[in-house]
Amino acid sequence: MPLLMIPGPVEISPRVLEACSGAPSSHLAPDIIEAFGASLGLMRKAWLASDSAQPFVLPGSGTTAMEMAATNLLDPGDEAVVVWTGYFSDRMAEMLRRRGVKVTVVEAEPGDVPSLDAVGAALGSGSPRALFATHVDTSTGVRVDARALARLAADRGALSIFDGVCATGAERFEMQAWGADVYLTASQKAVGLPAGLGLLVVGERALEARKRLRVAPPLSLDFDSWIPIMRAYEERRPSYFATPPTTLLRGLRVALEEMLDGGMEARFAEHERAARRMRAAWAALGLSLLPKREEITANTLSALYLPEGVGPELAAEIGKRGVVVAGGLLPALRTRYFRVGHMGAVLKRPEALRATVGAVGEALGALGHRVDVAAALSAFET
Ligand code: PMP
Repeated sequence: MPLLMIPGPVEISPRVLEACSGAPSSHLAPDIIEAFGASLGLMRKAWLASDSAQPFVLPGSGTTAMEMAATNLLDPGDEAVVVWTGYFSDRMAEMLRRRGVKVTVVEAEPGDVPSLDAVGAALGSGSPRALFATHVDTSTGVRVDARALARLAADRGALSIFDGVCATGAERFEMQAWGADVYLTASQKAVGLPAGLGLLVVGERALEARKRLRVAPPLSLDFDSWIPIMRAYEERRPSYFATPPTTLLRGLRVALEEMLDGGMEARFAEHERAARRMRAAWAALGLSLLPKREEITANTLSALYLPEGVGPELAAEIGKRGVVVAGGLLPALRTRYFRVGHMGAVLKRPEALRATVGAVGEALGALGHRVDVAAALSAFET
């Protein structure tokens, strides 16, 4: 099997793979009730959320979780601010527009984040009820300052919603301490499962916002459809609204237990350390990052400019060496960069990170771009 080093889906741990690989169970079976119920409690811990926050596990993906957030908090005609950092900010803005929300997008150059002053100004004009930001945008490798944005939103009386699809469980996020209202993700990224689940934790203020809505969200995304189900499973009672992927629920508990083993501090530090090594290796290969500054560079992936004279065929050349990486995603730069994921269980396998750097270096060499692969690999010796 090739080594899967795209920014999601990612390599999963042997224990999670085993948990997901049995015959499917009924969603009412005792082992599923236990896995589902336990996972909800574990999500609060991994999200560093309060006891009163409501976790949701949904059949679907990150997009499903985004759409749940976009449709449960705001009515048509309400205003919202979207912090633009890439492809997924555009998706969020489009979802809100389709809900009839008046959206102000605070722009930035690709590879940068809007200034807090610009976001503050957008929150200060009109009466926006919510701020939406992508914690790490997978198209640019840029990370926002979620703590500062959550505080800014709270100070202005707006809800803060963070798309953590490429961040949750890897990048520091302290939902309760930072006062963030919604933090959402998908199963196939740093959480470390196959694709198939949308995962959200929703704080009290956001749950209240749903109660005040005039226009109900789509039934399958409505907090009200799912809250009784989540409560039932957490109390270890089976319940039904729509069928969950039961094999993934088995894996979810294992993945969250692995994430919490050693604590979230250790988990954040592990990703930071790996990212530092990867960045040192890229620098030794002469590759430069799309994010414009270190403090806005994600730890979960590297978005790297293709060097002069090397085209998007690089990804296929790397693939020939047994490592799968991703091409560009942001339309404006799509053919000028490529992306490498480094999150989740694969960090426990330093040889996989080395193999990735080796494959990138050799592929560059094969395309006529001379690099010192040994120097890049020395990043892993410290
Ligand atoms: N947001 C971000 C930041 C993402 O990286 C992705 C997926 N790459 C999504 C949202 C959408 O998630 P999904 O593909 O699971 O629907």
